[in-house]
Amino acid sequence: MKRLEDLRGVGPKRLEILSKNGITSLMALLATLPSGYVDALNPTPLGLLTQEAHCVGGVVLDHPRKHFYGGKSAVRASLGDGSGVLSLAWFNQPWMSTQVKKGDSLLVYGKVSFYQGVAGMTNPRIIQRRGIEPVYRAMPGLPGRTFSALARQALDNMTDESAETLPQWFLDEWRLCGKRFAWEQAHFPQSQALLEQAKRRLAFENLLLYQTALLAVGQRGRAGLPLKGREKDLGRYWSAMPFSPTEAQRAALQDVFDDLNSGYAMRRLLQGDVGSGKTAVAFGAAWLATRSGYQCAMMAPTEILAQQHAASAARLLSSLGIASGLLTSSLSAGERQTALERIANGSWQLVIGTQALISETVKYHRLGLVITDEQHRFGVRQRQTLVEKPGGNVQAHMLALSATPIPRSLALVMYGDLDVSLIQEKPPGRLPVNTRVVPEGKRTQLFSYILASAQRGEQCFYVCPLVEESEELSVKSVKETYEYLKRGPLKTLRLGMAYGQQDEGEKSLALRRFSAGELDVLVASSVIEVGVDVPGATIIAIEDAERFGLAQLHQLRGRVGRGNKESWCFLLGPFNDRLTVLTQSDNGFFIAQKDLEQRGPGQFLGTLQHGRELPDAFGVKDMRLLEETNRCLRFLASEPRHKPFLEYLTGLSQNAFGGVFSSGRH
Ligand code: ADP
Ligand code: MG
Repeated sequence: MKRLEDLRGVGPKRLEILSKNGITSLMALLATLPSGYVDALNPTPLGLLTQEAHCVGGVVLDHPRKHFYGGKSAVRASLGDGSGVLSLAWFNQPWMSTQVKKGDSLLVYGKVSFYQGVAGMTNPRIIQRRGIEPVYRAMPGLPGRTFSALARQALDNMTDESAETLPQWFLDEWRLCGKRFAWEQAHFPQSQALLEQAKRRLAFENLLLYQTALLAVGQRGRAGLPLKGREKDLGRYWSAMPFSPTEAQRAALQDVFDDLNSGYAMRRLLQGDVGSGKTAVAFGAAWLATRSGYQCAMMAPTEILAQQHAASAARLLSSLGIASGLLTSSLSAGERQTALERIANGSWQLVIGTQALISETVKYHRLGLVITDEQHRFGVRQRQTLVEKPGGNVQAHMLALSATPIPRSLALVMYGDLDVSLIQEKPPGRLPVNTRVVPEGKRTQLFSYILASAQRGEQCFYVCPLVEESEELSVKSVKETYEYLKRGPLKTLRLGMAYGQQDEGEKSLALRRFSAGELDVLVASSVIEVGVDVPGATIIAIEDAERFGLAQLHQLRGRVGRGNKESWCFLLGPFNDRLTVLTQSDNGFFIAQKDLEQRGPGQFLGTLQHGRELPDAFGVKDMRLLEETNRCLRFLASEPRHKPFLEYLTGLSQNAFGGVFSSGRH
């Protein structure tokens, strides 16, 4: 088979651009799939536009207008198709005013946004050909058109046989098309139906290999550190707690105990709704590990959460004789040095921290247990790196905590093949959080309620809108809301603020003061979403609630209702079916299911991308495919006659994803 450098138009310079993008063979070139398609065969009717990229067709309704301002030009026109109107604007392309004429039929492509209810498109691309055009991720120095030409040549230099990776019987059994055909249709689609076939084939293989690699991670070094626990340690732990455990907490810690004593490495996911008391179970696990002389590391996704866990650990575990400490990236050089020493010489039996725990420079002392809190915020790799810290063939035991209930098939992709303990009950005496939607006209009443509650000594979280696109805008929204509330409606109260990019010292001071009851209102971004525990807070008000996912709103709501007082969650936004779900249910599993129905699995997969280890997103949005590949893999694993084929797949999966899961030190 030809090599990349044998293709026409590929000289040393292009070869370098390609290799910078991870493309070093014809196969890799073809495996670089378009990030999307412009479907000029099926334009979206203007009445059905959503805030995404669309291809639309219509008639130009008026003569384009050209404006100049400050040396720049803007050409504006509008397009109509009987179902709606779209306004178009081209900036710095003055020639567009003569290219587009009133009455022309036009096919354009671009991202749609809404301004005061009117749909608009900025710098739309005019589509000449009525086909399906691939759109490639930008590679500086290699335009999409050139990339297409290279893909064409690569395909022409390949036969069906030389491109194929899977045997014919397998393709037949799972209704998959051949690989070369799939690549052909992915890069040069002839119709949506053929493109769908291609996506199915390529995504199927990708997901299957990804899951195969995960399975291999699950099996590697399964022999665990032997912990010689005694049943009475469990009783001793719970009696040292200031509360008696719920049945579910007791059962979960029993599961952990059994794992630790099984001789195998524990790989357990503890799933429980917000406020169900997962931390106490995790600390119990730490206690069990220290009983056998092992150290435990607990990793949290945010600094705030790590600090809070460290404070709870100091409070709850010192009576059991467990010394613990905090390691985060905001420690001073001196503090860090001390922390590193105490970790290395084992005087800290429990180390709590952020991702700083993973760093090469942290040397542990008999690390036996790794706990990750809010696991959905981490990737498998980060978790795995920590688990492999003891070195050699030994892996630490692992307990992952998560409040995000997700379907089994997705869990397999996000967590690997873990055993699951569920906590489906809450500690007794919890009152459900009253939830109300507050439309624009009722704000004044909300403020009066916050003022009255503060009189009674109750506290309020005031959460600002989520601005996903830009951290800067998020900060702006927190600061502006803070100023507004402080000067206006809540000026008699003590206000503080907390947001993601804030100076760590300021942030933790604000949180400490809020926890201590020295502040009435904490204006915050969604940084408080995960785990922050302030029992005195009885109100959470969420601005622009529409922007959040239901599962996330439920997490936010979980910040209140932790004490014994009646609590309230106010969702500022319009009455609609979506927000109403939250007023009707307090059950995280039910809400996650609704969220999945309404928004698809994308948001769960979205969190995954922080780990940057997702299999190529080509088609991965399809839950059913994920379930199907999962079923396929289980079937192969259960049939002895497929053992050689499974081994072959494992080999392929190591090439594709092997490096993704290991820490690179093996
Ligand atoms: P999450 O599962 O959301 O991480 P936490 O572990 O933060 O929940 O627990 C929430 C609150 O409930 C904490 O203040 C904790 O001390 C308290 N708590 C945990 N278990 C119990 C229990 N069995 N009885 C009473 N309070 C409990
Ligand atoms: Mg928690």
